[in-house]
Amino acid sequence: MNLLPQDSLELIQNAPSIVFLTGAGISSESGIPTFRGEGGLWKNFRAEDLATPEAFQKNPKLVWEWYDWRREICQKAKPNLGHLIIAKWQKKSSSVHLITQNVDGLHPRAGSETLIELHGNIFRVRCTNCTSIFHLEKDGLDHPGLKFCKECDSLLRPDIVWFGEEYNQNLLTKSWELCKQSQVVILIGTSANVSVPTNLAQTAIRNGAIGIEINPEETNLTPSMKHHFDGKSGEVLPQIWKEVFPDETME
Ligand code: NAD
Ligand code: ZN
Repeated sequence: MNLLPQDSLELIQNAPSIVFLTGAGISSESGIPTFRGEGGLWKNFRAEDLATPEAFQKNPKLVWEWYDWRREICQKAKPNLGHLIIAKWQKKSSSVHLITQNVDGLHPRAGSETLIELHGNIFRVRCTNCTSIFHLEKDGLDHPGLKFCKECDSLLRPDIVWFGEEYNQNLLTKSWELCKQSQVVILIGTSANVSVPTNLAQTAIRNGAIGIEINPEETNLTPSMKHHFDGKSGEVLPQIWKEVFPDETME
């Protein structure tokens, strides 16, 4: 049985613009814990108590230890079918756009060359004093514990948008534009608790897009979606791919 009814299928096949909006759930099949799901706790700390500017100011060593632990998990993880299908879809059609809340770098590793990483990237750091940005691995800063700027010796921090911090305005503007122009928004693995990504999906829908949600759980956004597929993205996305491109192989 097909997941998509004929009208939605045709809309997807003919859409001038499709936006994928992904959250931590798409990477959970790669073994990366979500914040709120199983394995999200680290040494009894909640993410909300570590991913903040206040936590970093109070105890940068602790926050760096947590990021070193998370980065190692991301390094060892491999993209799953969910990431790979999106990358393949983007290669096939320039009308497919990707906005992610994830910082794990798995989308680019799967082959997504153009994407918006709304919350930053766990492999990048920036200086707390000057404007320098470094790549932890390429710039040889990939050691555990505190890291210091190669230009001015000040403390480096993860180049990540922490709870309570402002988003990068350019990325945000670009994301709004993409969502406003889209005919289809596909929301994957996000609990819709973070307001900006939730508003982006709502903006797309208010501007006429149909919403498709892939998540084993229902979210605040489920009622505004045309379809909710209750399942794992690594299983549902290959099925959708087959329906949209019946003549294509998966390889
Ligand atoms: P979230 O709010 O995006 O919630 C995870 C969602 O994924 C839940 O709704 C869950 O039901 C769903 N889910 C779980 N497994 C799934 C699967 N296989 N397929 C589809 N959906 C699945 O994530 P969060 O953990 O609450 O994190 C909030 C923020 O923290 C994110 O915006 C992100 O920036 C950051 N974060 C990033 C990563 C990462 O980069 N991989 C991991 C954890 C947290
Ligand atoms: Zn510096």
